[in-house]
Amino acid sequence: MKVVCVGGGPASFYLSILLKKQEPRHEVSVLERRPAGSTYGWGVTYWPDMFEELTECDPDSAREIAGSSVHWSEGTAHIGGRTVTHPGGVGHAIGRHRLLNILTERAEALGVRVEFGSEVQAAPDPSEADLVVVGDGAHSQLRDRHAEAFGTRRTLGANQYIWLGTTRVFTSFTFAFVETAHGWIWCYAYGYSAHGSTFIAECSTATWTGLGLDRLPEEEALRLLEELFAGQLEGHPLTGRTDTGGRPQWQNFTTVANTSWSHGNLVLIGDAAHTTHYSTGAGTTLALRDAMSLARELRNAPDPAAVPSALAAYAQERQRALLPAQSAARLSAQWYENLARYLDLDPHQMFSLLGQRHSPLLPHLPPRLYYQLDQTLGRLQALRWLKQRVGSRLASTLQSHHAERAGSTTAD
Ligand SMILES: Cc1cc2nc3c(=O)[nH]c(=O)nc-3n(C[C@H](O)[C@H](O)[C@H](O)COP(=O)(O)OP(=O)(O)OC[C@H]3O[C@@H](n4cnc5c(N)ncnc54)[C@H](O)[C@@H]3O)c2cc1C
Repeated sequence: MKVVCVGGGPASFYLSILLKKQEPRHEVSVLERRPAGSTYGWGVTYWPDMFEELTECDPDSAREIAGSSVHWSEGTAHIGGRTVTHPGGVGHAIGRHRLLNILTERAEALGVRVEFGSEVQAAPDPSEADLVVVGDGAHSQLRDRHAEAFGTRRTLGANQYIWLGTTRVFTSFTFAFVETAHGWIWCYAYGYSAHGSTFIAECSTATWTGLGLDRLPEEEALRLLEELFAGQLEGHPLTGRTDTGGRPQWQNFTTVANTSWSHGNLVLIGDAAHTTHYSTGAGTTLALRDAMSLARELRNAPDPAAVPSALAAYAQERQRALLPAQSAARLSAQWYENLARYLDLDPHQMFSLLGQRHSPLLPHLPPRLYYQLDQTLGRLQALRWLKQRVGSRLASTLQSHHAERAGSTTAD
């Protein structure tokens, strides 16, 4: 089978690896418009369950990814002048450049043809590809050419954000909320290597224009952010993207969704198919899971004639699996858009509700009431757990006591 993957992001590369692994006779190519090693972005997060899936699918690349990742196990929030730290689950991050280098090398080693500097504007001729994988990201040109057939929908977030890097290495997942004369501005920051961290700044449009961030030349805007977040950056600079050709780097996040994921021999994957708000740190994981699912379904398609039903099964599985992530991402974006609801809470309470921002109930209850209910429920759960543990220990002690007595009675 001939497979052409358009776009050299994590989704396309991972799919190309899995397809070549399961059938080395497939002719698989990846066409990426940028030059080699020049991808955008900083670090991306992922969680232990993703790592297990990667290991199962391709232990070689999983090992490399683990070796190039950092991890953290607590979150820190700076709210106004106060700092709160909460323990959390283990999270991992890897530089996007490094991740793509690993995947490119692995794909090439398996025989995938990789062409950098190759911009695709229209679908390749059907004689050149049994399957065209549309993996060219959230602003996919190929998808947009067939937007009606895919049923593409876009929703623009209300807040402004910018994706930056810094040489300050954050060792916990860090949030900072800073009050200015024009309203609040905040950042999420996390290390992705021994040398750098991702730093995303976000604020409402009113704060953005009030601070002049809509008009300031980029360098001045970065210096202003460095001043606002001086307490967290500790003298380290912020760096913007160098590949935007002068386009502004502040954006409103676009949530993309598609009703159909395939059209003729085209199939959507990764951000071209769906995006989830960056505050949930899930986009790369979801893109990789799309690749795993599509490869699995194509394994059951022995020839090109069987591909349409494999594509339908893939779309059905992934659309269903994505629902919780999409709902969490929507609620997470809304939490930040409605930040004012949480700002007069005690910092511990606010940080706790930040961790609960995916809850569908939270937007409908007064935050203090929600917090109290959550604490009470937590205590009740702890009590229930204690009761179960103590109860089962007591039961097993009594059982062995009876058994001993029974044993000694028999021996007597
Ligand atoms: C601010 C921000 C922070 C994020 N943080 C995280 C995070 O912490 N964790 C996480 O999991 N996810 C994160 N994400 C999301 C993540 O970056 C994406 O979900 C992920 O990269 C999607 O992978 P993909 O392969 O579908 O697309 P992409 O990674 O976007 O790759 C698409 C590729 O296609 C290429 N391309 C585009 N057009 C063409 C064309 N016409 N011809 C050829 N090539 C083309 C592009 O150059 C690009 O290399 C974040 C996103 C943002 C915006």
